Amino acid sequence: MSEFFKALRIDKTETGQAVEIVSFADDDLMDGNVTVRVTHSTVNYKDGLAITGKSPVVRRFPMIPGIDFAGVVEASADPDFKPGDRVVLNGWGLGETHLGAYAQRARVKGDWLIPLPACFSPAQVMAIGTAGYTAMLSLIALERFGLEPAQGPAIVTGASGGVGSIAIAILAKTGWTVIASTGRLDESPYLKELGATDVIDRAQLSTPGRPLGKELYAAGIDSVGSHTLANVLAQTKGLGAVAACGLAQGMDLPTSVAPFILRGVALIGINSVTASKVRRLEAWDRLARDLDPAKLEALTTTIGFDEIIPTAHAILDGTIRGRVVVEIG
Ligand code: NDP
Repeated sequence: MSEFFKALRIDKTETGQAVEIVSFADDDLMDGNVTVRVTHSTVNYKDGLAITGKSPVVRRFPMIPGIDFAGVVEASADPDFKPGDRVVLNGWGLGETHLGAYAQRARVKGDWLIPLPACFSPAQVMAIGTAGYTAMLSLIALERFGLEPAQGPAIVTGASGGVGSIAIAILAKTGWTVIASTGRLDESPYLKELGATDVIDRAQLSTPGRPLGKELYAAGIDSVGSHTLANVLAQTKGLGAVAACGLAQGMDLPTSVAPFILRGVALIGINSVTASKVRRLEAWDRLARDLDPAKLEALTTTIGFDEIIPTAHAILDGTIRGRVVVEIG
């Protein structure tokens, strides 16, 4: 007889979708060679899109949302993992095409898992979550492009959000002067505590601007897209670069080629979902080294399973500060 466990389930309805906490049968989990007892997850922006149905993130119904988890291996046919191993999963279609993290049990491909980094607890790893791991992929991409703190300040957009908060902390720790762009100026003390030198009002960047502006920033980490990214590109110094990872303002990019052909500015795309295992391990190693645990604690809120749905709505409303850990176990 199948075992049952608690899960959040999205079903398709005639009018859209319905989301509820259910008792889910183990037999209904999808194929995978590793079964994990999920202990912690988190609420990312993409989880907000999935749960509210605001964007077509979910590609199969019913779906258990949740794009990342930390947990303990219960059973494994993968030689790299054995029962009792602590593991992490970010992306790979979890919560989109494969039953996801908001459940007490997950069955996944061993190739998608990495060992829990030794210096972090499962809760800390989910406080970082996909947002923080993406912030680190962005910083590594800027470094790989050849940028250094001596070349000038770095701007972080969507600063009070998950990607933004961790981007500020890791840029500051690695020596960058950080300018934080936010719609919540009342969060300036929080952003400065994380490491921002200056805070600007995002309204300066969120409306249509000129193809080229004053050269202000050597680097940028942008989780906002749309006019904000276009203006950041227009204000990037010659031979600087911007890592683009998000679309909180919009998916559009109303820019011109001017920053690219007149200043040699580079736009670097970041996709955390299918990043290789080598890149993932590198990013988590760097997070272990370059993210101050006290700052991580300052940017984290912890919630229970019952609070996932309201938090998913709140993250799309832009009212969540930093990162949210979900205690699943
Ligand atoms: P959050 O909601 O935590 O942060 C987004 C922030 O963007 C908000 O806190 C707010 O910051 C700002 N913002 C919200 N709405 C607007 C708006 N209309 N105009 C300008 N700024 C706005 O989300 P996450 O940090 O989890 O994710 C951010 C983005 O990054 C999302 O689009 C997400 O899908 C994407 N992402 C992409 C990944 C990838 O692999 N490429 C991986 C992870 C995330 P403030 O109040 O400070 O202005």
